[in-house]
Amino acid sequence: MPETTCPSCGAPFKYDEDYAQLVVCPYCNNSIAVVDKSLKVDQKLAPLTKVPTRLEIGKTLVHNNVEYAIMGVARYEYGDGFWDEWHLLNTSNNQVAFYTEDEGDYILFHEKKILPAAEAPSAPIGQTFSLGEQTISLREKGQAKLSGMMGQIANQFPPMTPFTYVDGVIGQHMVIVSYLQDRVILATGTPVRYTDVTIK
Ligand SMILES: [Zn+2]
Repeated sequence: MPETTCPSCGAPFKYDEDYAQLVVCPYCNNSIAVVDKSLKVDQKLAPLTKVPTRLEIGKTLVHNNVEYAIMGVARYEYGDGFWDEWHLLNTSNNQVAFYTEDEGDYILFHEKKILPAAEAPSAPIGQTFSLGEQTISLREKGQAKLSGMMGQIANQFPPMTPFTYVDGVIGQHMVIVSYLQDRVILATGTPVRYTDVTIK
């Protein structure tokens, strides 16, 4: 990991230049976008309020004997509250992964696709809609925004900017679709049991 200095406050910090798309400076809390391996100060974020969790940046999440480095956490606020998305690096193949724990649902997202910008679906909950070649059954839809983060994350959501998200199902997989202004992000995951995930 290269060591660099925060372009906003000058404090030293480290990030993984192959992984990070958004880094938060632990000293001044500015979010810093990593664009073509250079750093661009984005926006000051409020420090993340701690919630009880077994996850911690710097530790390793293990599922099915696969080890994932815990790189950062992004908090998304929506109407009723927020969810935390933990950003992982699969250390065996260097692929990006995500893990969410939300109201008893534990989901490990192992695939992320970037698609061209599109309108969010108008289908009601329980109906299906199309995204590219996929047919998705819609479970929940709402507005969210990236309101805080720690560490480094492998997505470049413009902080504090509302976007439409859809939770859905494709076959055995859970998906989250984020409709940003310039692109759509489709994350595909698998529900896991709490006890099948260990942190070390
Ligand atoms: Zn700083």
